[in-house]
Amino acid sequence: MSVVSSVCCYCGTGCGVLIETDAGRIAGVRGDPAHPANAGKLCTKGATLHLAARASGRAWFPELRADRASPRARVDWNTALDHVAERFNALIREHGPDAVAFYISGQLTTEAYYVFNKLAKGLIGTNNIDTNSRLCMSSAVAGYKATLGADSPPGCYDDIEAAGTLFIAGSNTAYAHPIVFRRIEAARKANPAQKLVVVDPRRTDTAAEADLHLAILPGTDVALYHAMLNTMLWEDRIDRTFIDAHTENWAVLRDRIREYTPDKAAAICGVPAEDIVTAARWFAEGPTLSLYCQGLNQSSCGVDKNAALINLHLATGQIGKPGAAPLSLTGQPNAMGGREVGGLANLLSAHRNLDDPGHRAEVARLWGVERVPERPGKTAVELFDALAAGEVKAVWIACTNPAQSLPDQNRVQAALENAELVVVQEAYADTETTAFADVLLPATTWGETDGTMTNSERRISRVRAAVPPPGEARPDWAIVCDFARRLNPEAGARLFPYTDAEAVFDEHRETTRGRDLDITGLSYALLDEAPRQWPFPEGATHGRARLYADGVFATVSGRATFHAAAWQPVAEPVDARYPLHLNTGRLRDQWHAMSRTGKVARLFSH
Ligand code: SF4
Repeated sequence: MSVVSSVCCYCGTGCGVLIETDAGRIAGVRGDPAHPANAGKLCTKGATLHLAARASGRAWFPELRADRASPRARVDWNTALDHVAERFNALIREHGPDAVAFYISGQLTTEAYYVFNKLAKGLIGTNNIDTNSRLCMSSAVAGYKATLGADSPPGCYDDIEAAGTLFIAGSNTAYAHPIVFRRIEAARKANPAQKLVVVDPRRTDTAAEADLHLAILPGTDVALYHAMLNTMLWEDRIDRTFIDAHTENWAVLRDRIREYTPDKAAAICGVPAEDIVTAARWFAEGPTLSLYCQGLNQSSCGVDKNAALINLHLATGQIGKPGAAPLSLTGQPNAMGGREVGGLANLLSAHRNLDDPGHRAEVARLWGVERVPERPGKTAVELFDALAAGEVKAVWIACTNPAQSLPDQNRVQAALENAELVVVQEAYADTETTAFADVLLPATTWGETDGTMTNSERRISRVRAAVPPPGEARPDWAIVCDFARRLNPEAGARLFPYTDAEAVFDEHRETTRGRDLDITGLSYALLDEAPRQWPFPEGATHGRARLYADGVFATVSGRATFHAAAWQPVAEPVDARYPLHLNTGRLRDQWHAMSRTGKVARLFSH
């Protein structure tokens, strides 16, 4: 029996796990007591990882079908990748690089994310690469950038104990981030004076623990936060010194929120005005740690919701101090790592912006390519619309199941039917999306792959292979590099020379030099000692737990910006014919589309 340390592959809590192997098989899993995210604890999903690892339905060999009428047949890797390279080259020659697209996943390692982005934006010359993180985290990214200037979560898990008030919004933490919630429960037990406010339309297990549950009507969050700020302003609970020294646009926001009295917000939100006042007082007393997730992100005005909550932190100076931060909880295990390498259609490596010519030139220089294309790529939903319209001809889908998980399934499935070429890179052969695959590329999964992932508190952990992959499955990053060298033998060999995941990490590390997420002081050797938080620049001896402690933000002026959007009603209001609000939620013991957890009988008992 041997033991390999790694991280859980489910939620963004990023728990450390110890994988026990026996005779080349994963025999058991336990929490890693040395990992700061979980100190040895695991939730039911994490504790059954070894059972999911044994699950049936794995993709063992590359498969290819000659035409849509034929079933896929087993082929070797050379045949599969040469076929895809030939088809991609033909489509690019005839229609240009934007005729192809990639749809990838927040469950990939940072290294796989990095090479996928370099392949699309650097080698092929298209920004048509988006990820399922678009659906969960893009509002959080834009909310941070609109207010703090960079996509950098300012707080850490240690703030849970340091907070006087915990403000959970749009998150059923008890189900979605169970180990974070265990820590909240323990903190409250140790400090009975600590307040817990939960904002959620549903009476969840998280809400049941709250001292104050604001069961707002769906989509009314911005009105609530504006009314809380209105109360803080009226009762002089704001931090005028901090506002004057470290922010801008306060006057515009102040004028905006004057109309959002608690009474008015009570009518919009469907909660008592006195509860809004109580929440505002507890928030202002602080120190307050806000934890928020899909209730704020998955919305037609998700950026406004994120920013309106961050406004409360800025107005009360509650940022960069122990117990005081707006900390967005990431849904997937490596949505953060994907953001770090610019894994969206409008981003570039190391938190650079595609619309900045200087940033494009920097990335082109770092990659050794002539240019990075200027035009933003298709975002997740646009990408499938473009496939349906025939504008995008070929799509490469990796480690995600859009034929089950994207909204408007009839449309998504019609788009996949209409595509000239669907390549699916997957660990499982039996997902809804593999049914559409012209080419199936078997990938390694948890316990079989090497790399890094970053959790919600900016902590990078090593992901390690404990057992050999089944059949001919290969690591995601290696499949991409092999394909790149076939697509363009000269440039591919030059741009994708990596022989292991560490070489990819080292190149990614260099792209962060001088950026807010600078990790030039990190290496696999250091990460093998312990997981580390970024930034971790060259010469640093430890990562930084909290950002913006000096009141200097990542904007041009160095000041944070108040975002003064008005509350917008939901995009599809209820009416007499459609009287129900539908909302998304999570099953406690299942993960996403259940490709993995759905195969473990024990996880259906809750
Ligand atoms: Fe895995 Fe999240 Fe559970 Fe931790 S809390 S064991 S990361 S699913």
